[in-house]
Amino acid sequence: MAADYNAMKVSSGMKPAALIKKRKAEVIFERETTVVFTGRYPRLKVWCAECATEAEMVTVFEAAKLARVSIFTIHGRADGGELHHQTTSSGVRMVCVNSL
Ligand SMILES: [Zn+2]
Repeated sequence: MAADYNAMKVSSGMKPAALIKKRKAEVIFERETTVVFTGRYPRLKVWCAECATEAEMVTVFEAAKLARVSIFTIHGRADGGELHHQTTSSGVRMVCVNSL
């Protein structure tokens, strides 16, 4: 057997099929999801008591983006009464754009 194998190896450079070991490899592809914020956020047009008119309300995140400050600054200014704000029934704080 060994002699046959050597003979074939020398003559053709290929291994006999019986000596070829098959191996399975599992390749796992991991995918990432990239979320791109395009600048479209929920905006509500509701009555603002402080403005005494219907005003556009944006999320704290968008308010921070519009005012070019952090969301912590927006929350602080809203808590301090500087910004007009309301909380939706789902608990999302919306900030009046007029008060930014
Ligand atoms: Zn307002």
